Amino acid sequence: MKMRRVVVLLAVLCVCDGVKFGQLCNGNSANSRRTSDRWGQGRYGAPRGSREHKGLDIECNDGSIVYAPFDVTLHGNTITPFTDPDKAVLNNGISLRGEGLCFKLFPVNPDRTSGSVRKGQRIGVMLPMQTVFPGIISHIHVQMCNRSDPTPYF
Ligand code: ZN
Repeated sequence: MKMRRVVVLLAVLCVCDGVKFGQLCNGNSANSRRTSDRWGQGRYGAPRGSREHKGLDIECNDGSIVYAPFDVTLHGNTITPFTDPDKAVLNNGISLRGEGLCFKLFPVNPDRTSGSVRKGQRIGVMLPMQTVFPGIISHIHVQMCNRSDPTPYF
């Protein structure tokens, strides 16, 4: 019994081995990452005041179409936790699962929040980040559900 449980766990872990995100945003076929701008850095672990950036930022111009990076199922809205009313325009996103990964994308206005979507199909539109963070490199924040580092999947 104990042995069987170990085997199942290994099978689950191996699903994500070698998984790479396909194109996330129209106009950024290489999934180029936000490097550094006046608001901070886009890498996982970058400082955010007293906290750490728990995602990876992929460049995406405001209003761009957002694509499913692989075959996914949609699991509802993910609300960006901006409490400031001036930033409320960015309070939308989406939760997804696919290729053994559970992750969230924001700020994105999703077309829908349930069902299945094939790789490369449209899932929503990038929200107007420049109106809240002028001069930022507009980007989709990719965050794993367990807040681990998504960088190996890019
Ligand atoms: Zn981010």
